[in-house]
Amino acid sequence: MQKFGGTSVADAERIKSVADYIARVHKRGNGPVVVVSAMGHETDDLLEVAAKVSKSRPGREMDMLVTAGERKAMALLCMALHDLGVPADSFTGSQAGVLTNGEHTKAKILEMRPARIEAALLAGRVPVIGGAQGVSSGREVTFLGRGGSDTTAVALAKALGAEACELYTDVSGVFSADPRVVPGARKLARLSYEEMLEMNAAGCPKPAMRSVEFARTHGVRLHVRSSFTWEPGTWVEKESAMEQPIVSAVVSDQSEAKLTVAGVADHPGVAAKLFRALADKLINVDMIEQNVSLHGTTDISFTVPHDDLEAAQQVALELQRELGASGVFADPDIATVSIVGAGMKTNPGVSAMMFEVLAAEGINIEMISTSAIRLTCVVRESAADRAVIALHKAFGLDWGGGL
Ligand code: ASP
Ligand code: MG
Repeated sequence: MQKFGGTSVADAERIKSVADYIARVHKRGNGPVVVVSAMGHETDDLLEVAAKVSKSRPGREMDMLVTAGERKAMALLCMALHDLGVPADSFTGSQAGVLTNGEHTKAKILEMRPARIEAALLAGRVPVIGGAQGVSSGREVTFLGRGGSDTTAVALAKALGAEACELYTDVSGVFSADPRVVPGARKLARLSYEEMLEMNAAGCPKPAMRSVEFARTHGVRLHVRSSFTWEPGTWVEKESAMEQPIVSAVVSDQSEAKLTVAGVADHPGVAAKLFRALADKLINVDMIEQNVSLHGTTDISFTVPHDDLEAAQQVALELQRELGASGVFADPDIATVSIVGAGMKTNPGVSAMMFEVLAAEGINIEMISTSAIRLTCVVRESAADRAVIALHKAFGLDWGGGL
């Protein structure tokens, strides 16, 4: 199973180079089954035109529109393969047997019936499937949502019993930190599903979290790698029985903002009321912190995506009186900095070390949250890069480093 992302098929040259690679794999007798994403920024472009043309943007028509992106890419890739003498057929999600529910723009896969894909394989042909799309029981075309091609690839890998699912992209793998921030960041040879999911939650956008979850549930091994250099990338798979690195990666996320509801009464039901109201507005709350109350009142702080800050502030202001809060304070200039590592759960002192590293840098910690294998601190946005660099070094992740 090979999935090619948008940058991998961004233009004619890229499509020809991907076709060339597929042809070589095919010649060696290794399938493959291919899933493609839309070319370059096509999905964004289609969404943009839609926003200009329509206010209502009905889900059915949006899905018809957006899935055209992948359909274009799959047809072009097949043409390029034919020119190289490789028998290849393109298939829409519907033709490939990707059965989904009817929730337009964010459909979920219910069942895979890839009979036509299996038939193509048996006939020695290369099936090329349009990613992120399926068909509902009402026979409507559905879109799986942004990043949905990864999910298509993982679901097909599972259904066809593929030995692994290769996700080709414009970077050579998953790194121990963003190489644009940390020059000494290194490509990780392997990660557990759990580590990858924690990195996703901490702000690492690729591979799409939903597909990693799917891969973990169904035991599909992922190989994140480059379609520019074709070198081996990063395996995401079951945690090995070997000892795990204490810290595998440092991730930061500047996409969140903080809201503080100050001086609320410290009695049952206050948090329930606030977060129910936020949930009803479909606001996705991430970290939550409540201070101990010394004089019968307490402060509640939480983070939300930047885009939801205004709406969240509105909700809090509307409830201010009822909650007895003394004020609502919005702070967009925060960032989260996280360390992730499967070995954390069996090693003491990791949090102490993280806090010491930040202290030595003179960086103030504003909020803290943890999971078994992740530690996250909220810091000033302006201090985030410095924090990442210092943590990456302190935990021995720089080239030549090592704990
Ligand atoms: N092209 C769509 C997107 O950019 C779906 C995908 O390829 O994952 O989100
Ligand atoms: Mg921010």
